[in-house]
Amino acid sequence: MARAGTIIVGTGQAGFQTAASLRMEGYQDPITLIGEEPHIPYQRPPLSKGFVLGKQDAESIELRPAAFYKDHQINLLNGETVVAISRPEKLVEIASGGQLSYDSLVLAVGASNRKVAVNGAELDGVVYLRSLAEAILIKASLEKAQEIVVVGGGFIGLEIAAVACILGKKVTVAEALPRLMPRVVAPLISEFFHDLHTAHGVKILCGAAVSEIVGAGGRVQRVVLADGSSYPADLVVVGIGILPNVDLAKGSGLPVSNGIAVNEFLQTADENIYAIGDCAEFPSPFTGSRVRLESVQNAADQAQSVAATIAGHRSAYRALPWFWTDQFDIKLQMAGISAGYDHVVTRGNRESQKLSVFYFKANKLLAIDSINRPADHMFGRKILAAGVPVSPQQAADESVDLRTLANTSPQHDAHTAGQ
Ligand code: FAD
Repeated sequence: MARAGTIIVGTGQAGFQTAASLRMEGYQDPITLIGEEPHIPYQRPPLSKGFVLGKQDAESIELRPAAFYKDHQINLLNGETVVAISRPEKLVEIASGGQLSYDSLVLAVGASNRKVAVNGAELDGVVYLRSLAEAILIKASLEKAQEIVVVGGGFIGLEIAAVACILGKKVTVAEALPRLMPRVVAPLISEFFHDLHTAHGVKILCGAAVSEIVGAGGRVQRVVLADGSSYPADLVVVGIGILPNVDLAKGSGLPVSNGIAVNEFLQTADENIYAIGDCAEFPSPFTGSRVRLESVQNAADQAQSVAATIAGHRSAYRALPWFWTDQFDIKLQMAGISAGYDHVVTRGNRESQKLSVFYFKANKLLAIDSINRPADHMFGRKILAAGVPVSPQQAADESVDLRTLANTSPQHDAHTAGQ
């Protein structure tokens, strides 16, 4: 009997990479890649950077040209939504009608924007940024808008604030918590980016919860904060986080928590169904806890891991997490997961705009954030992936060469080495 092959739901970074990696693994069975967005798979990071700035267009951010899918016998169904999974029959149901059978099913369904829950949130001119369609809307809106309020001082909010500022707009960022990017970086990094944005003329408001968005004639006019202050806006970009898309999994009886629950092989409670990327909650060997990560690295590396497993080379997922953000001319690169740190030491300083922060817990190195110090990031990744012991004293001492430390690792992690 002919094999049904693999169905991948979601044409984002994780879904695309699963299909590509399956073929690289020599997988011969049918592959169907289904995504509800109308476009062929594209990269999201440029949406809040070069795309809105006008330096990149839709074609230049495609993960592969359209011919790739035909050439690799990947049946790409874009503009199609999977509405249900029937696990006993190993079938998915698609919105346009019909059912498709699978041997293996990969849920790479990503996440959706968290909506701001205040009066006025539905006004025209209140926008979010996750998809190419939303980026196109923001780009067009920025051509006319002059006063922009960004709700949320996380990565995406700050990237958009920087882009709008470069485009000559008057920009205000309202972050509810006391500092920028509070959940992921140390105060020193928050302060650096606060100063960076302020120096370019962006108004940064921390401890600034939005209480209402006011409009006229159905269109946004100003944003009101909890302290009663009010900021004029002809465009409001909301970047207050994302929620994993778990409904499809939940509807088929698969366990979900902060994401679709998977084991170290990225397998759900059903051994034929995997979940990867922004939608998946998995056990991290780096934190010793279950985590859900939102990054290109995680989506792409989990896809490669699942493709290997489906192709018969089963191995546990243990790639080191890393991430980057670009704001103005500054690149912040992050390696490892700093959650739970109790101590930091630094190399470099804010004045030179070259700075690395090393996060420790009980003297164990957890993570490194680097601003314009790419070598710290590169060697730091090798050190963290291999678990090379580094003391806070060594980390703070510029005369201790990170390259040398990285190369002392007996169990150098081949998976992260070449990236
Ligand atoms: P997604 O990219 O969300 O893809 C999931 C896809 O599944 C979506 O197209 C969705 O429409 C589709 N889908 C969902 N349900 C169904 C269904 N039932 N049927 C069919 N299709 C479905 N990461 C970094 O590391 N560095 C950065 O600088 C960076 N910048 C970013 C900037 C922006 C503006 C955004 C939005 C993200 C950024 N990220 C960055 C995060 C990174 O892009 C994501 O972590 C990554 O794209 C996640 O990939 P994914 O495939 O898991 O999910």
